[in-house]
Amino acid sequence: QMYHNTMQKAASERLRMETDLRLALSRGEFHVHYQPQIDARGNRIVGAEALVRWNHPELGAQSPAEFIKVLEDSGLILEVGTWILDEACGAFKQLVAKGLVNPLSFSLCVNISPRQFRQTDFVERIEHSLSSHGLPCSLLKLEITEGIVIQNLEDTISKMRRLKKLGVSFAMDDFGTGYSSLTYLKRLPVDTLKIDQSFIRDATTDPNDAEIIRAIVAMARSLELKVIAEGVETAEQLEFLQGLGCHFYQGYLHSRPLPVEEFQKLLK
Ligand code: C2E
Ligand code: CA
Ligand code: CA
Repeated sequence: QMYHNTMQKAASERLRMETDLRLALSRGEFHVHYQPQIDARGNRIVGAEALVRWNHPELGAQSPAEFIKVLEDSGLILEVGTWILDEACGAFKQLVAKGLVNPLSFSLCVNISPRQFRQTDFVERIEHSLSSHGLPCSLLKLEITEGIVIQNLEDTISKMRRLKKLGVSFAMDDFGTGYSSLTYLKRLPVDTLKIDQSFIRDATTDPNDAEIIRAIVAMARSLELKVIAEGVETAEQLEFLQGLGCHFYQGYLHSRPLPVEEFQKLLK
C-alpha cells in the first residue's frame, strides 16, 4: 500500500509538472544560462554550453534533469527545444555584433534530446534558426548522447552528415557512461568527446576513474577527435587532465552556468 501511494504521488507530481510546463513557455518562465568552455593553455574561453533553466512561479528553480525528462516524454521538448535554440542564437547574435565572440572559432554548444533529433525536418530547423539570426553554422556545436545514436543509427548518420556539410559540429555528451563503442564512433561524424562528469569527480582519488579518463583521451587521440572534460571543480582535477593532454574543460572551477549578461562580462 505504501509503495502504491508513493507511486501514485510521483505520477500525480509528474502530471502537475507537465501541466505547468505547458504554460511555462508562454509565461516566460524559461531562461538559458551559458557555461564557458576553457582552453586551459592560456585560460581562454573558446565556447559555451547553453543550459535551460525553469523558474516555477511558486516552486522556484527546477532541476533541468527532471523537467527535461518530462518535456521529452510529453513531446513538449520540440517546442521548448526550438525556443532554446532561438534564444541562444539571439544572445550570440548580440555577442558577435559586439565583437566579443568570433563565430568562426567559437563553439556555441546546444544540447539536443532524442525526440528533437528524430524530427524529420530537424536539419532544416537548425539551418533556419542560424540563418534567421545571421549566424554562420560553424558557430553551432550540437551535444548529442548515445541514446540518440542507438535509436536509429542510419538516420542519425545521415542527419549528422547533412549538418556537418553546413558547418555544424558535434560533441558526444556524457561519454563513457553508455556503450561508447569504437564501432559506431568511427562511423559517426563526431568532432568532440565530452568526458562525463562522473569520471572527473573522483579522477584524483579513484584509480578506476583515472584509467577510464586515460582511455577516453587515448581513444580521442587515435580517432583524431577533440576531447573536453565537464564538471571540473578543482585545480587538482584540471592538473590531472592536463597531464593526460586534455586541455579543454568546463566546470565550477572556472565558472557556473551564467545568465548572458554575466557571461558577457567574463568574455570582456
Ligand atoms: P549535461 O548536458 O551533462 O550538462 C552538464 C550539467 O553539469 C549541467 O547541469 C551543469 O550545470 C552541470 N555542471 C557544470 N559544471 C559543473 C561542475 O563543475 N560540477 C557539477 N557538479 N556540475 C556541473 P544542469 O544544468 O542541471 O543540466 C542537467 C542536464 O539537463 C544536462 O546534462 C542535460 O542533459 C539536460 N539539459 C540542460 N539544459 C538542456 C537543454 O537546453 N536541452 C536539453 N535537451 N537538455 C538540457
Ligand atoms: Ca551537455
Ligand atoms: Ca554531460
